Amino acid sequence: MTNDADRLATPVIAGNWKMNHGPAAAAAFMRALADAHPPRFDRTVILFPPAISLPALARARAGRSDIALGVQNVHWQADGAFTGETAAPMAVEAGAGFAIVGHSERRHIFGERDDEVGRRAAAALEAGLRPIICIGETLDERRAGRLEAVLERQLAAALDAIAHRDADFLIAYEPVWAIGTGVNATPDDAANAHAYVRRLLDARAGRTAGVPILYGGSVKPDNAADLLGAPGVDGVLVGGASLDPRSFAAIANARARED
Ligand code: PEP
Repeated sequence: MTNDADRLATPVIAGNWKMNHGPAAAAAFMRALADAHPPRFDRTVILFPPAISLPALARARAGRSDIALGVQNVHWQADGAFTGETAAPMAVEAGAGFAIVGHSERRHIFGERDDEVGRRAAAALEAGLRPIICIGETLDERRAGRLEAVLERQLAAALDAIAHRDADFLIAYEPVWAIGTGVNATPDDAANAHAYVRRLLDARAGRTAGVPILYGGSVKPDNAADLLGAPGVDGVLVGGASLDPRSFAAIANARARED
């Protein structure tokens, strides 16, 4: 089991750059972020650059161990003939501590299946990376009243694949209709989905009690505090607004609104 000492400080503020910022831009981002965001240990800040920018970002991080790094995906094999894929142990060697798996762009553009997402999560854990397992429904699925069924199916596939591992992972609830659209889930929508995911996690023999559940989908500096203040929201996974160091710093320093 995960030790208390290893528990992540929440909220978790994670920035997914997708296919943006090459090595030089990544290093410049890190310098700008270090200026705009002084170290603080009451939260966990993680950047997910393209894998090719990870070493440059790790070098530019210098003494800022408070800013963690991750990769946007990992393969389930540690090496081999898998052109274009990233192996989890290699990501660790390049400076990653986390790995996103099952992002909706991987599922919907590249056709990754639930069982593959589970294998990727298991490989991340095996290599010592903490996976952030993304789940979320499309607009059609939501309109058809299938939100809970989709979350349950996606989560079950991932949890079955990692059942024998420590509960050292995170979940990101990312409704597909909110990703990159500028239309975020309301704090109530997020709270309801997170409560459901928490119930699913709790049903798993208590091994998953401390697993943080992040919300992702059009998080911006002006809605971050409301979303972070929603019950059950332990952090945010940010796409577009993580590309600018000032906007990401504003989210990383957002105070959850308690009203
Ligand atoms: C994401 O890529 O995980 C994401 C949530 O993107 P955006 O913040 O741009 O909606």
